[in-house]
Amino acid sequence: MKQDNTLGQGLHNFVDEATIREEMARFENPDPGRIREILAKAREKQGLDPDEAAALLRNKDRDLDEAIFETAITIKKAIYGNRIVVFAPLYITNECKNRCQYCGFKASNKELDRRTLSSEEIRAEVTVLEDLGHKRLLLVYGEHPTLGADWIAQTVRDVYAVTSAKSGEIRRVNINCAPLDVDGFKQLHEVGIGTYQCFQESYHRPTYEKLHHAGPKTNFLWRLHAMHRAQEAGIDDVGMGALFGLYDPVYEVLGLLHHARQLERDWGVGPHTISFPRLEPALNSDIAYNPPYPTTNHEFKKIVSVLRLAVPYTGLILTTRETAEFRRELMELGVSQISGGSRTYPGAYSDPEYDRPDVQQFCVGDSRSLDEVIRSVAGDHGYVPSWCTACYRLGRTGEHFMELAKTGFIQKFCLPNGLLTFKEYLEDYASEETKRIGEALIKNEVDNYPDPDRKKLLTERLVRMEAGERDLYL
Ligand code: SAM
Ligand code: SF4
Repeated sequence: MKQDNTLGQGLHNFVDEATIREEMARFENPDPGRIREILAKAREKQGLDPDEAAALLRNKDRDLDEAIFETAITIKKAIYGNRIVVFAPLYITNECKNRCQYCGFKASNKELDRRTLSSEEIRAEVTVLEDLGHKRLLLVYGEHPTLGADWIAQTVRDVYAVTSAKSGEIRRVNINCAPLDVDGFKQLHEVGIGTYQCFQESYHRPTYEKLHHAGPKTNFLWRLHAMHRAQEAGIDDVGMGALFGLYDPVYEVLGLLHHARQLERDWGVGPHTISFPRLEPALNSDIAYNPPYPTTNHEFKKIVSVLRLAVPYTGLILTTRETAEFRRELMELGVSQISGGSRTYPGAYSDPEYDRPDVQQFCVGDSRSLDEVIRSVAGDHGYVPSWCTACYRLGRTGEHFMELAKTGFIQKFCLPNGLLTFKEYLEDYASEETKRIGEALIKNEVDNYPDPDRKKLLTERLVRMEAGERDLYL
């Protein structure tokens, strides 16, 4: 991977501090009438302006906060229904030449076991994940000191090449790796990645520069323009994020919204997903143990709710950093994708030696198995877990997907397709108890499906699945 100090020179900083400060100040003490007007606008599912998002976030009135949550729940239900997409992270390497102060993989952590998976080891990991029922993976990489885009592309090929018994194959590989140049992104596009994901960590440039003082990640603007370069290379599903706890959460949400707007302006489509990790304890990281801007659960719920209202058609991703109990609440408020049964160390799925908390990137808050997560998602909440990858495989990505999403497509296609993947999971991987709960949920969903023609198509495919067919979608 190229390390060049001229990278990023001349790039425009579209997350302007003065603008964000002005937007934050505009509604320092928002009056209740204004909050209600903003919520009324949000109910039209047209999104919010950054200053409106700031007003909601800065509201201190608990009753109005409840109204914000209620509105988020309504929008979430209206657009996404009760379907939730499930994935697993797969750590490929924890070697890293950066020194992000909050991360267990930072180069200065000499006592961390460094490991980069070989093709053989990737195969072993993917086989375990497939045998658990996963279909969607997020590959995660430290910024490896010597290996670049061609190696990352090879690891993606390695993953797609693994097929195991039952319906085992990975149908969508998303990537979370350091920013590449356009040629590098083209290599990832050519091997068929789904979403390219990269978190800005902090949109507040002085904070960013303080926390990233060595290695290529010091370059704020090069990272800020990563999604633009990915788009230029043809990757039209991009995922952004901020790491909460490093700086003022209101500033970070506004940074995300400005970033999203800039992508819309320049590429006609905003981010496919937004992630909002909260700092978790990590090896030798004071800041991870004592975040300078700790985000309370109440504030975090507001962040998720306000993002749901501000960018209603963008997927919101929640990982196992949060506890099982809290994940439940956040799903209702707006989260549309969750990870389950995650390990955050390369090799930890297939090699018990590396399945230890002390070697992980950070501590996970939800350590339940995938089967337990699915049972709870379906049984306790009545959500339909989905491993659907139909859109991506039919070329419904980027702007095309967003346009469809706005016409109720998610309910028309994503719900039945989600049910079909859930059926596949229950047939091939679920425990008896999960299967019992899941079958009851599918029956209920089919019975209540409003469109008779589509209901017929769905029922016919569910029967074909019971007879042994796999990978069916509408
Ligand atoms: N190395 C690549 C990078 O930095 O973009 C990608 C992989 S990095 C392992 C993925 C993300 O983990 C980072 O972008 C950061 O937001 C998050 N992360 C790092 N340390 C964390 C911590 N202590 N708690 C929660 N999330 C953390
Ligand atoms: Fe390396 Fe990414 Fe961790 Fe920073 S966040 S130390 S770049 S793995």
